[in-house]
Amino acid sequence: MSLGFGRTYLAIPGPSVMPDRVLNAMHRAAPNIYGGPLHDLVEVMRTQLRTVAGTRHHVAIYIGNGHAAWEAANANVFSRGDRALSLVTGQFGLGWAEAARQMGVAVDELDFGRRTPVDAARVSEALAADRDHTIRAVLLTHVDTATSVRSDVAAVRAAIDAAGHPALLMVDCIASLGCEEFRMDDWGVDVMVAASQKGLMTPPGLGFVWFNDRAREACARADLRTPYWDWGPRTETEFFHQYFGGTAPTHHLYALAEALRMIEEEGLEAIWTRHARLARAVWAAVECWGAEGAIELNIPDAAHRAHAVTALRMQSPNGTALRDWTETRAGVTLGIGLGMAPMGDPAWHGFFRIGHMGHVNAHMMMGVLGVIEAGLIALRIPHGEGALSAAARVIAEA
Ligand SMILES: *Cc1c(COP(=O)(O)O)cnc(C)c1O
Repeated sequence: MSLGFGRTYLAIPGPSVMPDRVLNAMHRAAPNIYGGPLHDLVEVMRTQLRTVAGTRHHVAIYIGNGHAAWEAANANVFSRGDRALSLVTGQFGLGWAEAARQMGVAVDELDFGRRTPVDAARVSEALAADRDHTIRAVLLTHVDTATSVRSDVAAVRAAIDAAGHPALLMVDCIASLGCEEFRMDDWGVDVMVAASQKGLMTPPGLGFVWFNDRAREACARADLRTPYWDWGPRTETEFFHQYFGGTAPTHHLYALAEALRMIEEEGLEAIWTRHARLARAVWAAVECWGAEGAIELNIPDAAHRAHAVTALRMQSPNGTALRDWTETRAGVTLGIGLGMAPMGDPAWHGFFRIGHMGHVNAHMMMGVLGVIEAGLIALRIPHGEGALSAAARVIAEA
């Protein structure tokens, strides 16, 4: 028998849960794309997007996902033959590096393992060794969605400065924007990329690149720039209004406008606090399960755990069985273990992830934790007691 009928919860780290308000905002006829209310709406959104990123500078909106945003950032900053340094804390530093490599950039990787954040001292050393300053940019993933580690962005900026190196700092906030504290200007970030379908609660399909004037100067001689990806015209109101590099993504824009309105209503700091508290509820539950069982948080140090997603490891390879159970029996879809072991390798089944980004609240978190506990019982996976009370206590104390 399945108890999965009823409203389901897609608890994967993106696409995230879309609010009804966002879904309803798209339910309308196509607007005039050459003038009128849509254009005014986008102007408001551009200001809101700058606020969410903590920047007074520029934002370009693309039709594309996170991979497209990576490519857009690369195209505007690099020339063929340039060097870059990618800081790897899971899967996404590898992905961004590979995209740049395929575009003709020579990318070095600094790997920090799968359970710890970037060590800024190593970044400083690597840059100090680049005496001729050939490294054009450092690529950093704020929250690696595969490992659920969060790195200290300001510390990486300080490491670049300590080495006296002119490299740009480019940050992937695809998993963290709208979930975790991020301050682009205060933290000295030159380029930041994000996408619509995670903390921004909008269907997949919009990619964003924020950039400051230093990055804009770098762009002037970037020979990887192509017409579609060029961020210049996208920040000039007239071009944007008329062409958006082609037809505007009308319904995605309606959805995003509603999501940004919701973010404004709740307040960014309140949103960060909500995510931090819900993440702590998840950790508290997992710590109880793990006290007498074979399940643990991937990131041992709470100070470095993401607030948007939690990666878990199980000693026996039954993460996949658990995910199947929660989806088919209880209506909760958990995230696969990404990049922790090769797919197909039996070890791969020993990892899974809980997405808690964007439109999530206490009852959803208690629901997902209760369902995981039911799955552990049903599948006779050894686990400690008291997980739900521990999570409830974290929520009660908020
Ligand atoms: C989801 C994600 C990506 C990739 O985004 P897509 O929209 O799937 O292309 C890149 N980086 C991080 C940190 C992500 O979480």
